[in-house]
Amino acid sequence: MFDQQRSTNRDAAEAFRIMSVLAEAGFVAHLAGGCVRDALLGKTPKDYDVATDATPESVREVFGKSHTLAFGASFGVIGVLPIKSANQNRDAPLTPTEVATFRSDGQYSDGRRPDSVHYGNAEQDALRRDFTINGLFYDPISESVIDYVGGQADLKSKVLRTIGSPHQRFAEDKLRMLRAIRFATTLGFQVDPATTDAIEQHAADISVVSGERIGAEMRRVMTSEHSADGLRRLVETGLAQHVMPGLLDIDFDRLTRLRKHLPCDSFAAALACVAIAGEASHQILLQTSRDWKLSSEETRQATAAVKHHATLIRAAELPWSKIQPVLIDRDRDVVVSVATAVATADDDDQTGLEKVRGAIRWPADRLNPPPLITGDDLREHGIPAGPMYRIVLQTVRDGQLEGEISTADQAWEVVKHVLSKKRT
Ligand code: ATP
Ligand code: MG
Repeated sequence: MFDQQRSTNRDAAEAFRIMSVLAEAGFVAHLAGGCVRDALLGKTPKDYDVATDATPESVREVFGKSHTLAFGASFGVIGVLPIKSANQNRDAPLTPTEVATFRSDGQYSDGRRPDSVHYGNAEQDALRRDFTINGLFYDPISESVIDYVGGQADLKSKVLRTIGSPHQRFAEDKLRMLRAIRFATTLGFQVDPATTDAIEQHAADISVVSGERIGAEMRRVMTSEHSADGLRRLVETGLAQHVMPGLLDIDFDRLTRLRKHLPCDSFAAALACVAIAGEASHQILLQTSRDWKLSSEETRQATAAVKHHATLIRAAELPWSKIQPVLIDRDRDVVVSVATAVATADDDDQTGLEKVRGAIRWPADRLNPPPLITGDDLREHGIPAGPMYRIVLQTVRDGQLEGEISTADQAWEVVKHVLSKKRT
């Protein structure tokens, strides 16, 4: 099942090395969780997690303290560093493999994390996991899947279901409700009816989860190819009200069309599409950026796309001086992909966007010719600094971009004209 990944993927090979070292030291060691799920689905796992009956102390002893990181020691998780081969770049970062001791979780009192954990066996460790499809192990010795929770059957029938009572599991850790929607969305699965009912009942409790954590899950939902379905599920289950209230006013048919024409990997573009399909685009961006503590770069990109996509779609009829600033901006690519998605989804005329695509390929000095005069030039000519500078320079720039003027002398004529108008 993992043969191909072991030979082509360093992280997979590393996880198998770690499991064999643990086995030689007399411990049980399995691959666990997401990587087993993904391999059974024929997808490439994001990471390869190992679960073992060795305690964190034993794991550190077996691999040596200097080759391990105690990053989640209170939950029984140790990071094991890979052995560097001679031909590897000395400065390349070392990605540790997470090795977690089989455990069962104690009481939950904060709605997010267990107050304590107890080391146990593989079956107990499967039962503390969130969903059946995430509760599978792979044993490298027998080369077989170990399934205590019916995960394989649910993978086959494409159903997302909690392990054990959904009420209890969501009461323990509220984030699981959003994870349920995330996995169902990204995998294209149905959520089991009892699991859905429980989400509907507990939806308001999602508010105990931090905005950043909510944002991290929402990012996965929104960049998924089925994102419109996922966001609709959030509304239907009542989670939307608490994680992204703007979704309550979204035109989902339009969003579905928009997303069909948008490449999935840009979160900023995905967020812009949601905002554009909403009633109050600006409000959605503002609130999301604040609630999920988005980076200023992502916020800026999404805002630029919402603000300027219509300009690019109408590029054939607008003056060049209105379009050019968007095309030289650092966020141009996001704006262009959102504009393309909107125009295609709304069946708009594409002439403007064709013009845009052509201009993007121009040499730099044609797309963005050096200015004819600058603020320094104005200062040197003794023009007192003030708000007029911006108006003067903008007027000159617009004239230059429109092809009305092309020399410094002509620019100074414009300056004189603007200043004299100001005086009258
Ligand atoms: P991916 O890495 O692709 O997002 P994953 O399944 O690996 O998917 P992680 O968040 O990396 O998800 O978690 C690894 C495993 O830990 C999960 O497969 C699941 O078994 C368990 N797990 C993670 N979060 C929880 C949780 N909140 N409650 C219970 N089990 C969890
Ligand atoms: Mg993972």
